[in-house]
This record gives sequence, structure tokens and C-alpha cells, in this order.
Amino acid sequence: MEQLHGGRFVTRLWRVVGAMLLLLSLLIAQSIQTSRSQHEERAVVEAYSVARVLESDIANLVDKVRIALHTVAVERERRLAGGAGDDEATRAYIANLHVNVRDVLGIRVADDAGRLVYQTEFATAPAEDLGGQPWFAKLRDGYDSNVLISAPHRDGAEGPLVVDIIRRVEFPDGRFAGAVVAPVPAERLVTLLAAAEAGPGGSIAVRGEGLTLFARYPVLAGQDGAVPDALRDLVARGEVAGTFHAVSPLDGTDRLYSYRRVAAYPLHITVARSTDEYLGHWRRDMGVVALLSSMLFAVSIGATLMVDRAWRRQRRIAHLLEKQAHTDPLTGLANRRHFMEVADAELARSRRYDTPLSMLMIDIDHFKEVNDAHGHRAGDRVLQQLARTCLEILREVDVAGRVGGEEFAILLPETEVEGAFEVAERLRTAVAAAEVPREEGLPIRVTISIGVAAMDAATNLDTLMSQADDALYDAKHGGRNLVRRFGQRG
Ligand code: GH3
Ligand code: MG
Ligand code: MG
Repeated sequence: MEQLHGGRFVTRLWRVVGAMLLLLSLLIAQSIQTSRSQHEERAVVEAYSVARVLESDIANLVDKVRIALHTVAVERERRLAGGAGDDEATRAYIANLHVNVRDVLGIRVADDAGRLVYQTEFATAPAEDLGGQPWFAKLRDGYDSNVLISAPHRDGAEGPLVVDIIRRVEFPDGRFAGAVVAPVPAERLVTLLAAAEAGPGGSIAVRGEGLTLFARYPVLAGQDGAVPDALRDLVARGEVAGTFHAVSPLDGTDRLYSYRRVAAYPLHITVARSTDEYLGHWRRDMGVVALLSSMLFAVSIGATLMVDRAWRRQRRIAHLLEKQAHTDPLTGLANRRHFMEVADAELARSRRYDTPLSMLMIDIDHFKEVNDAHGHRAGDRVLQQLARTCLEILREVDVAGRVGGEEFAILLPETEVEGAFEVAERLRTAVAAAEVPREEGLPIRVTISIGVAAMDAATNLDTLMSQADDALYDAKHGGRNLVRRFGQRG
């Protein structure tokens, strides 16, 4: 019973510690998740605001160029309407305008066949003819916006990489009359991108129609690579802003992208933060959390193990002590005190359920002589042998106890006096037949006398024992090696 109780305590302790650690794990997992989302959200907000600023920078640049082109186109259209060709005044006007728009390499004016009518001074070799440019036919055949932006190309064979911003020129009747073109160096766009902040490992890109890459920062060789699918989807859906994750097809880095379409122009901006970078702090923090929590786990489990072991050890000792307190050390049978306790309980039970109960009282015959002849130690071995013989003959439910030096009592539950008498007879014969070997000489044989008494409604334990004692006395007087029952003389 008590053993069971101790086991239950330890089981409960483990359950409580297990539940506590489980709760703790959930809590930690939850806070890790929350912290990650917070870092992610912050990165989204930061990339978003960088993209906004960049969008307005780029829109301003294009606006400025567009206004300049518009002014030139209006001047050109006025001259064409008046039937007059370009003169020195127009040239000076355009040259002056260029001085104020530093973002472009220069300004060119072409006629309806694409032939250059005029251009400002270019540092590099000037383009001869604009009729061959991929955008020329589109401009001539009508273009709904007032400004066209070309794909990046080299300005002349040796020239720098540029993006042309183009304005259509018309006769008064609306017929195509040519183009005003300002090439913006890709370098200039890269400068704008470089001024924006995407953090270490980040990337910023501007793309034109069809998501053709105009400029990227940091600059990569062969940067006209693939476009992330998520970006294509956003643009295809006509979204003006959005956020997505992608592994860059250009450098293989996982990034968080913030996308913005530049208002009024077919330009697309992406500002991308490296996932490794913005989650770096979070990962470091989580490393510490993981270390501390695994230490906590180890300590909790270690402490519980220690309590578990100490508790089990203590239970074992308590159990041992209890057993020792109940047992006669020489024979291993119940000692007198424990026998009396058990006998009391058996008596009460027998009374409650009205079942029979018998008692045997046993005494070794002439035991003093055994001691005298063979020594006290040999006597002890005889006592041990007697205990063994009792256990062999008795049932599981019977209780045997050593109630005196060489006196034994046996309680036989559910046994009438006749049955008890039979058991006593068997015991007597078995003992008489048993031999206790000696180191030298013949083995020792002893006989026992047994008194039998049965419980009736009137008896209590003391009475029962004294009745069994009386019967034993009769057996001794009858000549020993005999069984006698209480109330039977002879
Ligand atoms: P009887 O047939 O009348 O019983 O004769 P007996 O010699 O057995 O007499 P009694 O029952 O009075 O003897 C008790 C003896 O039992 C006294 C003592 O020497 C011996 N004895 C009691 N306890 C022990 C013990 O633990 N070990 C040994 N070896 N002898 C014991
Ligand atoms: Mg005796
Ligand atoms: Mg005796």
C-alpha cells in the first residue's frame, strides 16, 4: 500500500514537471513566433518607406525631364506651324534648357523620318539617326501618353548606357512631326538607388515596361536576369504596391521585397531587404532564448530526477525498516507483536463475516537438551528448519509467527477445528521426519507438540491463545510429539 503511494507521488511529480515544461515550450514557441513577426513587420515598414521615397525621387526626375521636353516640343511645334525652320534662337533656347536639366546627357530633336534636326553637345559620339530606334515606330503611329521611356541601350557605339525619355512632336493638324529625346544615363538612376537604404545584402531595382531592368543597386554583372514570379503576378494584377518574399534569380539571396509602381509612368521599383540581415538580430536573440530554455529544461529534469531517486530510496529504506520491525530475524516469520496485530485483524474479520478460524500453538520437545547436546547455534538451525517446514505445509492465507523462544503460533483462517487438527498432524509428522544436518555426526531430529483451538462466538484473541496453550500443555503431558485440541482430554 505505502509503496504504491510513493510511486504515485513520483508519477505525479513527473506529470507536473512535464506539464510545466510543455506549457513553457508553448510559451517560448509563441514568443519566438511573435518576435519573428515583429522583426518581419518592421522590415516590411522600412522597405515600404524606402520604396516611397525612391518613387518620389524617380517621379521628380522624370517630371523634370518631361517638362523640359514639353517646352522644347512646344517651341518646335510653334516653328513648324509658322513654316519656319530651326534657327540660332531655338538652338540657344534648347542649349540653355539643357544647362538647367543636369540629369540628361543632352537633348535631341528629330524630324518625322527620324533624322536629327538638332542636338545639344554630347560628350560622346552623337546618334546620327533616330529612325532606327525600337521606339520610333511606336511614337510615329501614335502614343497615348505624353512621354515614352525606352529600354536601356548604349548611346552610340561607344556611349554610356542610357534610358531615353521621348516626347512626340506634331504638326498643327495632329500629324506626326518628329521627336524630342533626352537620354538619361543609367548611372544617374543607380545614383538615386544608391542613396536609398536597403541594408546589408539588400537590393533596389527600377524596371520599365515589360519589367525590363533599368538599374539595380548594388550593380551586378549580367543584371538583365529573370524577374521574380511574385513581381510578375503583382504587376499583371495591376497592383500599385505590394510585399512578397523571393529568392533573387540574380544572386540567389532570399529577400523581402516591397514593390511600388511609379505614379504616371511605366516604372516599377522594388526595395528588397535580405532575410538573413533583418532576421539576424532575431536569430541571435533566439539563440540566447534557446540556450537559456534548454538549460532550464535540463535543470528541471535533473532536479526532478534527483527528487525521484531520493524519494524511491527513502521509500525502499522505509519499507525495509517496516519489514524488519515486523519480522523475526532468525526465522523470517512474523514476530510476536506483528503476529498479534495480524491475528487481531483476522479475528475481527472472521467475526464480521462469520467464518471459522483456528489456532495452533507449537513447542519443540526437549529443546533444552538439543541446545545442551549440540550447542545454541545448532538449536538456532533447528528453529530455522522448523520455520521452513511450517511454510511448506501452510497455505498462503495462513499466518505463522514466532511468539516465544522456541514457541510458534499459527493462525488458520476459514478453518474449522477438524481441519486445523489435520494441518497440525501433518506439521507434526513433517517436523519429525525433517533432519537438521550437523557439521559432524548424525543430523539432529526433533519433535513438536501442538495445541489446537478454534474460535467460537465467545472467544477473543487472549482466550483463543490460552485455549491453544492449554491444549499444548495437554499434548506435553500426553507424552509429547502429539497434537491435542482444546477441551479434548486423553
Ligand atoms: P519441553 O519439551 O517441556 O518443551 O522441554 P524444553 O527443553 O523444550 O523446555 P522449554 O520449552 O522450557 O525450553 C526452552 C528452551 O528453549 C530454553 C532455551 O535454551 C531454548 N531457547 C529459547 N530460545 C532459544 C533460541 O533462540 N535459540 C536456541 N538455540 N534456544 C532457545
Ligand atoms: Mg518452551
Ligand atoms: Mg520446549
